[in-house]
Amino acid sequence: MHPFSRSTPTILDAPAAGARRALPVNRTSSTTSHPTLHPTASAMIIITRPDATEAQIEHIVDSVRRWGLKTEVSRGVLRVVIGVIGPEDKIREKPLGAFPGVESVMPVLKPYKLVSYEFRGTPSHVKVGPVTIGTPEVVIMAGPCSVESYEQITLIARSVAKAGAKVLRGGAFKPRTSPYSFQGLGKVGLQFLHEARELTGMPIITEVMDTKDLELVAAYADCLQIGARNMQNFSLLREVGRTNLPVMLKRGMAASIKDLLMSAEYILSEGNFNVLLCERGIRTFETMTRNTLDLNAVPVLKAETHLPVVVDPTHGVGVREFVPAMALAAVAAGADALMLEVHHEPERAKSDGEQSLRPHEFEDLLTRIRRVAEAVGRSL
Ligand code: PEP
Ligand code: MN
Repeated sequence: MHPFSRSTPTILDAPAAGARRALPVNRTSSTTSHPTLHPTASAMIIITRPDATEAQIEHIVDSVRRWGLKTEVSRGVLRVVIGVIGPEDKIREKPLGAFPGVESVMPVLKPYKLVSYEFRGTPSHVKVGPVTIGTPEVVIMAGPCSVESYEQITLIARSVAKAGAKVLRGGAFKPRTSPYSFQGLGKVGLQFLHEARELTGMPIITEVMDTKDLELVAAYADCLQIGARNMQNFSLLREVGRTNLPVMLKRGMAASIKDLLMSAEYILSEGNFNVLLCERGIRTFETMTRNTLDLNAVPVLKAETHLPVVVDPTHGVGVREFVPAMALAAVAAGADALMLEVHHEPERAKSDGEQSLRPHEFEDLLTRIRRVAEAVGRSL
């Protein structure tokens, strides 16, 4: 059956029964193990000895929690690191170094505390539906810039899934430079994404632009995208920090790597540690490409933070023919995941057609990405 022969389904008020989730919000710090850091908050890390026993670790964690401080336990290959969060004066007065099994206690001196690599001492894994990001496997997220119709999103979803993509992208709420450009299908677009997920089994990532839309978007998305233009929308960052959904935070086009890390800190400080950082190109004096993809950010972020790093070569270059080279380079540089725009009719796309790969180009690229991944000790 030709994919376009299926008629557009009736738009319901909500996804099929059972599919709608309540907004997974932790509104109070008592329901989360991570509190809102108040301005004098501080973070300390307890590094345990390689031979520390489970009973010793449990004793440390229980005691610290009884003092009203919060903990984040990270299990590395060699040892366990216990991050401690709370008011600076309270942390300072506690004899954290006195517990059996402790090797050392150190304050996190970086301004981004919960985000810093040392706070966990090991890379984080972030789950998007059934897909884990932050492992040796490079995860491919792909789909159109905007969801345009039922036919468009399901056709593209099927083709990218077949080629090897693991997560489906598609914008229903679009941040456009011009108010006269296509702004996205909104709720209807989310419903089409839901249908595409049902058909392919791929979890979906989609942008939330405004706090007023969060409840709606969170009811459909498996991962929330915060776009480049919203990287410093601090009220939106705090709100997504109060949900349990993974969040992909895109670097602002004039933001430094440190700015990106500080924005991520807003999300973690509200209790949500499921954050992906996305390099998507920055504005420079260059005019031959839409943006300049800053691949320096990949190794720098991998050193500075435990959070997984995603690269979006599509927006980073903005020109279809140059996207594959930068996708391969991103994998070689150590990206945990890639986000790529794909459209079956780029010349008719409602947004970003000029930078979207055609399905066969995407399929070819994945074959080449697999080879680069293997060359650098990764897989696809
Ligand atoms: C997008 O992913 O389509 C998008 C709008 O990205 P950015 O926020 O990076 O411009
Ligand atoms: Mn786009």
